[in-house]
Amino acid sequence: MSTSRFYAVEKASNRKAVFAEIPDRKVSEYFGENVFNRKAMQKYLSKETYRTLTHAIDNGKSIDREFANHVAAGMRMWALEKGVTHYTHWFQPLNDSTAEKHDAFVELNGDGGMIEEFSGKLLVQQEPDASSFPSGGLRNTFEARGYTAWDPSSPAFIVDDTLCIPTVFIAYTGEALDFKTPLIRSIEALNKAAVDVCQYFYDDVNKVTTFLGWEQEYFLVDEDLYSARPDLSLTERTLLGHESAKNQQLDDHYFGSIPTRVQEFMKDLEVECYKLGIPAKTRHNEAAPNQFELAPIYEECNLANDHNQLLMSVMKRIARHHNFRVLLHEKPFNGINGSGKHCNWSIGTNTGINLLSPGKNREENLRFITFVVNTIMAVYKHNALLKASIASATNAYRLGANEAPPAIISTFLGTQINEILDHLENSSIEDVIEVDEKIRLHLGVGQIPELLLDNTDRNRTSPFAFTGNRFEFRAPGSSTNCGSPMLALNSAVAYQLQEFCKAVETLRNAGKSKEVAIFEVLKSYIKESKPIRFDGNGYSDEWKAEAKRRGLDCENSVPLQYDAYLKPETVKMFADTHVLNQKELEARNEVKWEVYIKKVQIEARVLGDLSLNHIIPVVIRYQSVLLDNITKLKETFNEEEYQELSLEQRSLIRKIARLICDVSKKVDAMIEARKRANRITDYREKAIAYHDTVVPYIEEIRGHIDDLELMVDNQIWPLPKYRELLFMR
Ligand code: ADP
Ligand code: MG
Repeated sequence: MSTSRFYAVEKASNRKAVFAEIPDRKVSEYFGENVFNRKAMQKYLSKETYRTLTHAIDNGKSIDREFANHVAAGMRMWALEKGVTHYTHWFQPLNDSTAEKHDAFVELNGDGGMIEEFSGKLLVQQEPDASSFPSGGLRNTFEARGYTAWDPSSPAFIVDDTLCIPTVFIAYTGEALDFKTPLIRSIEALNKAAVDVCQYFYDDVNKVTTFLGWEQEYFLVDEDLYSARPDLSLTERTLLGHESAKNQQLDDHYFGSIPTRVQEFMKDLEVECYKLGIPAKTRHNEAAPNQFELAPIYEECNLANDHNQLLMSVMKRIARHHNFRVLLHEKPFNGINGSGKHCNWSIGTNTGINLLSPGKNREENLRFITFVVNTIMAVYKHNALLKASIASATNAYRLGANEAPPAIISTFLGTQINEILDHLENSSIEDVIEVDEKIRLHLGVGQIPELLLDNTDRNRTSPFAFTGNRFEFRAPGSSTNCGSPMLALNSAVAYQLQEFCKAVETLRNAGKSKEVAIFEVLKSYIKESKPIRFDGNGYSDEWKAEAKRRGLDCENSVPLQYDAYLKPETVKMFADTHVLNQKELEARNEVKWEVYIKKVQIEARVLGDLSLNHIIPVVIRYQSVLLDNITKLKETFNEEEYQELSLEQRSLIRKIARLICDVSKKVDAMIEARKRANRITDYREKAIAYHDTVVPYIEEIRGHIDDLELMVDNQIWPLPKYRELLFMR
């Protein structure tokens, strides 16, 4: 009914803010209260258990079953005291969401009663009935099993009445079926490789930790408007909708004041974050209307990723208390900014040194240059892989659109670092290394710390930018599991650092000093990796042409971007770092292609349904009104007057009739294209067919219907319009 849109709009605009429930305690008093953190461990575990457990966590040692019983007992006691009744293994299957299966703590006690039970066995390992999770053929439902296994490095936490235990998800043969397993492996690979390189500079480094600070962008939409849009409800994206006359031209939303309703939501969200130990730090409006961002203080990479996964689900829950829906889709609205999830990445030593931070003396700066150059080199060699790691059907609508980084990976370093690298590249060893009693380095880089304070020329168009003491990977989409880009980056850098050590050792074995060897290898890397460095406007068309000339990966088709995972150099890189083997890579690609197919399939179905059952009937009704009108004009006026007075209507009817015809034809053609694609059995081929033959119709049909939206009577248009969806009162 035509009233549905107005009903929803009216309800949405009369909505009052739901006031947040803010505890009357300071954040420091309740931070982490729903986490089995060190404070809780200390209280609920014996001294001995506490010591062994924290030692195992800090040193990546395995934990035996017997010992796990003690931990489980303490965890259960802590949880029961907090009114928890259930527990679940919480894991991250390959479909970009988290999964859990709740079991009650209770067991029969043999006397007809029940007791609260939670053993080490249940803590350590479970076999969820997970046959419906994507496995890319690694686990056929009838023959093989999937296991979840406790990840002690990420603490258990409580959501509602359930104790959630972060776990990895693997096939019975040991292959990874999730994001967490290879992420942990990549963190370990990077630790090993970076510690080796650190030995050139420090004696006391024995551990290197990877840090991740994500920034989560999202949209909020009023619940009733959301429900009145089947496309939002089913795909999280508006498949239709003409741009509103005002959107983000005035930039008045960005850093503007946050609407009260939203602010109340944010307050509740932050309280929940703090209780769960998520160190939320900044919140603000983003560039588009109704778009916001939350960023925490950075943390160890695996924990940070768990926190991001947790945040996304907490966000959805809290939003509903406030009569909102959160949209984590990368491009919910055409014509305005999409949402990303910037991943700020750095590596640091057990001695407190950020390896991507310039030091105070020349040796430290050589270390700094070493890690920066190796990172750039890794990004250069694996630029196609990094792009594949964030490629998805949904992120494709954002990448390459005019606000987002393009679908080409390049790095921005800023003038200072560029000058230093150019200087090194063009210097001879004699220029920079002066031999006195001890070989000392004169890299001309002594002033980096001072210079960097000035490094404010941040290039927002670069997908991978150096920002003073970290790299910011900006291409990941808002719904991405950070594990995917992070494990690709960690592994590529780990592999690169291994290569670096080999090259340095070769030169040293040939009689060169350590400094000379490092200098020579870096110099060759600086030369080789030059094509990845780009400080200009990454959104310009010239860059696309230039990137192609430089040999960077410019593939735009998501199904083809995934091929980067199976290139021989990628397979070797992942094998040598022990992060993923070929079988796992192949299986994971199957999953990626399959997910791509399904996403496009759903969009195509929803759009077909919207077109034929929601839009066309209403448009035809309007067309009849116009036809009726001209018939009556004809009856009322003489021919000459009629011709003149009905001119507009007749031309409108013609346009509308033509568009109805175009939409119907294209919907039919889209259905045909889908049927043809569905007959293909190979996932890769099928995904390519969906990309090449189905996606174009989605855009074309939308274009026609958006034109119709501007012609048809506003009173009867069946869907909430952009201006109604996007401007929160
Ligand atoms: P901007 O929007 O300008 O990029 P924000 O303040 O929103 O900056 O986000 C910066 C992010 O970078 C935060 O998530 C922060 O925790 C993270 N960050 C800061 N320093 C580091 C670091 N050394 N390693 C990793 N992440 C970092
Ligand atoms: Mg940022």
